[in-house]
Amino acid sequence: MRLFTLPAPYPDELGYSVIARYLAQWQYSQNDKLLHDLLGPSKAGVDPTTPPHLSRLAKSLGFAGARSFAARHTLLPYYLAFVPAMDRRRALRALLSDDTAVASKVARTLVYRCAEPDTFRFCADCMRRDLVVYGETYWHRAHQLPGVLRCARHRTLFRDSRVPFRSERPNEYWAATWEALMPSRTKRLAPQMSGALAELVATRSLSLLSTGFARDECTSWLQYRLILRQLGYVDATGRLNASRFEEDLLTYFAANDCQPQRFGLDRWWLQITRRSSVQYHVPVQHLLLQAFIANRQIAVPEQMSLAHETDG
Ligand SMILES: [Zn+2]
Repeated sequence: MRLFTLPAPYPDELGYSVIARYLAQWQYSQNDKLLHDLLGPSKAGVDPTTPPHLSRLAKSLGFAGARSFAARHTLLPYYLAFVPAMDRRRALRALLSDDTAVASKVARTLVYRCAEPDTFRFCADCMRRDLVVYGETYWHRAHQLPGVLRCARHRTLFRDSRVPFRSERPNEYWAATWEALMPSRTKRLAPQMSGALAELVATRSLSLLSTGFARDECTSWLQYRLILRQLGYVDATGRLNASRFEEDLLTYFAANDCQPQRFGLDRWWLQITRRSSVQYHVPVQHLLLQAFIANRQIAVPEQMSLAHETDG
């Protein structure tokens, strides 16, 4: 029999964090029994991207459906943002199903290339605000996105909590307590790009997270080819001038103190525009490439680049 009910989730709180706060009331010692009663048996480690038994958790928290819970309290809207619509629907069905083995397999596939954080991150300004408004703090979704290092709301660099993001052990959850997050125990992250670019990536990532699962992002190599053609990097026969594209792209990132190779393998900026790479779905790569494109669209207006084409 449960004595406590789950606490109501805070805005942008990870589902993981709701469970962690619930367990903190029981001082962790009873994790296995409490979670078995609440969510059912769990043998796998804990993945904060997608809490296990999503539909049972959503129901326990009074949500009408697992989909609306997942849209507000998991990282799935971000990870699924650049997955083509049909694959996204299929993945979402699997993730929200009661088959936890299938759901965790799909979740692993989604984060596979994304270099998720090793430890939970937090914004010191958001934490102070949480303490004033709610009397406690919690793990925010927007602070755990790969490639996002500063708060889109406060513009401050995140701090590393040193609390492991994933646990190999089932039912092991860590709450974002003040003791865990105090400045003497945590470290500010090193910036990996200029403030302006970091802010752009953070703002766009937050927008991906906030708009749920129905969206129309640029997801295919063909769409990128069309845009690059407007910018003069692709000729009338469809051939990409890879060396000029790469030179301009690397110049742009160097000017922004950013090493794009940190965000993927094998010159990903070329792979993402090639037919063979339909499975490339890493959000931060799309966001960086789109930042470069937006910058070129200002520098090279469409009219000018189209004037060089012969087939109109
Ligand atoms: Zn903040």
